[in-house]
Amino acid sequence: MTEQQALALMGEAGALLYGHFRLSSGLHSQRYLQCAVALQHPAIAEQLGGALAAKWSMEGHPPPDLVVSPALGGLIIGHEVGRGLGVRACFTERVEGDMTLRRGFYIEPGEGVLLVEDVITTGRSTQETATAVRQAGGIPLGVACIANRSGKPHLEDLPLLSLVQLDIPTFEPSACPLCAAGEEVIKPGSRPVPS
Ligand code: ZN
Repeated sequence: MTEQQALALMGEAGALLYGHFRLSSGLHSQRYLQCAVALQHPAIAEQLGGALAAKWSMEGHPPPDLVVSPALGGLIIGHEVGRGLGVRACFTERVEGDMTLRRGFYIEPGEGVLLVEDVITTGRSTQETATAVRQAGGIPLGVACIANRSGKPHLEDLPLLSLVQLDIPTFEPSACPLCAAGEEVIKPGSRPVPS
């Protein structure tokens, strides 16, 4: 799957939003990728997960023993990458602030783990998941995500692959052309937005 095909798939699903958004960083943007809107369709989730699994294999990385994703954003795509690779998929979740493997999920000593997220921006949740994997005895092999907003091809010492390199311009509110035009700014996901 090429980047154009991945963007077209998510655009058709209405996941690529156009408007005037306030990102969690405080910066403003005219576009926003809401992966959950695409992933609500199991057939699209399966295609995206299969494409990430294929990309991981085609780039010559070692096959993982399992996939681990940080909840909540990485959960569905992680499951579909696990399907594509034929391995189990589990997730970490925050317990009193710490990313933790719960619910009877286990990692055998020395098992290789592919970390999966929907969107990587700072990569903080994914790094914390890598730490939880190491503490459980696993070996993080790399990171796969739908969209990479970090601008980097790796996360610390781990290779980072993505279907889409999201290079969306952002503005300080004081320099935002949409603010200058008097358009109301919204927080993505706070209410329905027409695509
Ligand atoms: Zn603005």
